[in-house]
Order: sequence, then structure tokens, then C-alpha cells
Amino acid sequence: MILAASLWVLGYGTLALVKPNRSCPRCYGEKVVRKKRGKGMRPCARCHAHGRCRRWGAVRIHRMFWAVAGDQFKGARKADRADREEWA
Ligand SMILES: [Zn+2]
Repeated sequence: MILAASLWVLGYGTLALVKPNRSCPRCYGEKVVRKKRGKGMRPCARCHAHGRCRRWGAVRIHRMFWAVAGDQFKGARKADRADREEWA
């Protein structure tokens, strides 16, 4: 059970690292949601009409990953900094 849990955490961590975004759970990537009344559509507020949103914990996992692995790629660090600021 503990093994399964740690495997899940590991798998989810990898998934969140490789694919930090997933399609929005409210609009399913459609970027618009149906109004409650009538047939009108409005931009999805959950994903700010991007259709994608951050996987749960993706930002935290990225920070942890770069805190550990960042030291090993000191040469590539400056290039990563701009990337990382997006996650802040
Ligand atoms: Zn959405």
C-alpha cells in the first residue's frame, strides 16, 4: 500500500513535470461555457478562456524539481530563469 502510494506520487510528479497543463475541467478545453439560462456562451472564468489550466501541484513540483536539479545545470540556469518566472 505504501509502495503503491509512493509509486503514485512518483508517477504524478513525473506527469506534472512533463505535462503541467491539462484541459480545463469546467469547459473541457472549449474555452467557453454555456450560460445557465439561454443558449449564450461566455468565456470560461476558470481557465481565463485559455482552455488549459495547471495540474494540481504542478507549480510546487516544478519548484521542488528545480531546487534539486537546478544546481546540476548551472550553465543552463540563466535560460531557465525566464522560464521559471512564469511559474512564480
Ligand atoms: Zn475553462
